[in-house]
Amino acid sequence: MSELAAAKRIVVKVGSALLVGAEGTADAHWLHAFVADIARLRARGQQVLVVSSGAVALGRRRLALAKRALTMPEKQAAAAAGQSALMRAWEEAFEPHGLACAQVLLTRDDTEVRRRWLNARATVDTLLGLGVIPVINENDTVVTEEIRYGDNDRLAARVAQMIGADVLVLLSDVDGLYTADPRRDPAAAHIARVTRLTPEIEAMAGGANATADVGTGGMATKLAAARIASAAGCATVITIGHRPSPLAALEAGDQRATIIEPSTTPAAAYKAWIAGSLAPAGSLVVDAGAAAAVRKGKSLLAAGVRGVDGRFGKGDAVVIRDDAGAEIARGLVRYDAADAARICGLKSDAIEPELGYTAGPMVHADDLAVQPSSHGQPKG
Ligand code: GLU
Repeated sequence: MSELAAAKRIVVKVGSALLVGAEGTADAHWLHAFVADIARLRARGQQVLVVSSGAVALGRRRLALAKRALTMPEKQAAAAAGQSALMRAWEEAFEPHGLACAQVLLTRDDTEVRRRWLNARATVDTLLGLGVIPVINENDTVVTEEIRYGDNDRLAARVAQMIGADVLVLLSDVDGLYTADPRRDPAAAHIARVTRLTPEIEAMAGGANATADVGTGGMATKLAAARIASAAGCATVITIGHRPSPLAALEAGDQRATIIEPSTTPAAAYKAWIAGSLAPAGSLVVDAGAAAAVRKGKSLLAAGVRGVDGRFGKGDAVVIRDDAGAEIARGLVRYDAADAARICGLKSDAIEPELGYTAGPMVHADDLAVQPSSHGQPKG
């Protein structure tokens, strides 16, 4: 499959069944081979994030919990004990490759409440920029039933959306979607590529494939993850991960998988979200030079901002208007309203002396959605 080789950012979700052996300990052999697979992508300049399950499974053994369904508090206790064992296993696997990994524990709010989302994104971006592999899991120990993702397939999709990944690989013990249950129906056909998630495709996941996976998430949660990813411009690959280097095998085409294509690009999805889904909390009025730059999709610098309206916080959506009052763009502002007002008109190197910190441009180009009809749009 060409998607994997071409991707800039790849999120790989690893299910508990792959990581935790029959004795309830981490499968070091599999982990080492898998990390070699990741190291190869890194060496090609691709950024990789791992979403790793396994905390509950490892903690269960550490705490000698009986082999029965655990209560929610027991699961949370197991996750607390198992998460450190999980990270130790990943660290030991990454070390021989000279790669560092970092633990990131998220709750649903971290990907759904915008300010927390921006913060989580900035941290993960920084880790990637430093060449570190983020190893992400749900913060099972503190989440309550109401605020859980509940399964790492969906968590992985939200992470892919948050960081603008091109490919999400869901590695588990099922090699993709079938038209019927392959264990019962010899005529069941494997589906290699889904260009659009139609109700017919969704129905396949709900019925025949529902129990195809032993982890938390069955095929229905995988398709729910794929739906999130597809709308965010990210392709989803559902495949089995048991062989030592599943990513290399995928690329070579000798690993069966279902690929669900994205319905847009990550950048377009992100800009559409800024332009359409966020209620602006204020506005910035810019001079003619800045207006021209913003119309071309360039960052809005404080130097070009004439005035600040509204009460907004850092990371809020704001409208950018030209000096005639016409809306030219929307974007996520990097300063709150009070600080933005203080740095209006200042050159970039004068921001830090004024505020004691700098967060860069007023609105970064990546966080800017230019109105398609902004040229000469009347005031309104
Ligand atoms: N967060 C859970 C764990 O680490 C796994 C959830 C899942 O596999 O979907 O054990």
